[in-house]
Amino acid sequence: MTTSAFASLPIKTELLTSIASLGYEQMTPIQAQALPVLLKRQDLLAQAKTGSGKTAAFAIGLLEKLDVQSYQTQALVLCPTRELADQVSKEIRQLAKTIANIKILTLCGGQPMSGQLASLERHPHVVVGTPGRILKHVQKGSLQFGGLETLVLDEADRMLDMGFHEDIMLILDSIPRKRQTLLFSATYPDEIRAVSDLIQHEPIEIRIEATHDNKKIKQVFYQFNKGERSKTLVALLQHYRPESSLIFCNRKQQCQELADDLWQQGFHVLALHGDLEQFERDQVLVQFSNQSSSILVATDVAARGLDIKELAAVINYDLSTDAEAHIHRIGRTGRAGNVGLALSLFLQSEQWRVDGIGKFQGKAVTIESTNSLKTRENFKLIPPMATLFINGGRKDKVRAGDILGALTASQKLQGKDIGRIDIFDKISYVAVARPLVKQALKILTEGKIKGRKFRVRKLR
Ligand code: AMP
Repeated sequence: MTTSAFASLPIKTELLTSIASLGYEQMTPIQAQALPVLLKRQDLLAQAKTGSGKTAAFAIGLLEKLDVQSYQTQALVLCPTRELADQVSKEIRQLAKTIANIKILTLCGGQPMSGQLASLERHPHVVVGTPGRILKHVQKGSLQFGGLETLVLDEADRMLDMGFHEDIMLILDSIPRKRQTLLFSATYPDEIRAVSDLIQHEPIEIRIEATHDNKKIKQVFYQFNKGERSKTLVALLQHYRPESSLIFCNRKQQCQELADDLWQQGFHVLALHGDLEQFERDQVLVQFSNQSSSILVATDVAARGLDIKELAAVINYDLSTDAEAHIHRIGRTGRAGNVGLALSLFLQSEQWRVDGIGKFQGKAVTIESTNSLKTRENFKLIPPMATLFINGGRKDKVRAGDILGALTASQKLQGKDIGRIDIFDKISYVAVARPLVKQALKILTEGKIKGRKFRVRKLR
């Protein structure tokens, strides 16, 4: 009989303690299948999506064999985007918090080299990062993998889509052949198998079904007439009124156009696409996750690795080009036991794609007429929060408690009126209940945070 208790695994007590403190009671299916393989130090080729618990699976595997006494980098995790790298580092850190003196470093592009070079002098045990920047460090000689034991390629399909194949191969040239290589991918195109053949040694393959539990997602398709795409989308928003929705477009130019169009119509919407600077991307994500914006328009690439909890709806403004990617998109709603909503627009000429999705998920799709949508002319989706931007961050020793304290000191605002606080190196963001945001802005502009004056403004 297989058991899904973590305690059944041959792992150190420190890890069991941190797993328990994170509230993980049972292994997820991918963990139950992957961990025995990982702990035997075999190579693994796993098909698993975000939300499956894959990060904890490889994190536990690599932490179990880590030797903190050694000054060598023993594990490298390559990720397609900085957001994913940040999430992965966070999860590894949480699981490693019971292991004294462990050093985990995140190295991604879009950030100054100088700080990274300084951190590298402290010999990290685990490095998480994006291929371009990792390669740069390897070529500079600031990062050495002579003692590397575990290499993880996370969301490998996406890294290939983003053109990282060559960088990954060049990085591999500096890694010992005798190592454990773990390859995680949400989809399984031929290129993945080719990469696996090149870099892995007799990998054990596991596949966790890509199809989600259909019961938890209400999925409806709407056929629209040519020229009425955006009008139909607005009708969907007015009919369903989702508190938060992620709208997928297939091209990045379209994202901004659609966001501008919706904004004109009074929706609080932001676009996430590859043309944004890193800080703009951070800002968009902060505003969407702290509930200051109800709609995020994104491409698949831009949305990859986003860990947005409690997403009320996923809307396909464009159908995905393949059924598996569609299932992946809609799997972002309906997590954590909530019923999700997945709405898709299609043209008559795309009926074959809708049929393909039905076939792939093994269940007939529901198509409803747009006539059934109850539109309400003046209805606007107003997000509950608004965001203030503060021109001071971690480097200015600003902490979340300082911002909260400054806002609530006069008792005009209460803790319950303040939402998420995000602190970056040089800037911070605080979410405030939308009706009170002017008051909050006044308090912060006229007052001080930690005895200092900072520039504060409200984001749109
Ligand atoms: P991932 O697929 O790695 O993005 O993980 C999805 C989420 O599941 C993360 O927020 C993890 O913290 C959480 N998680 C991972 N393993 C478990 C577990 N065994 N039990 C409960 N939650 C978990």
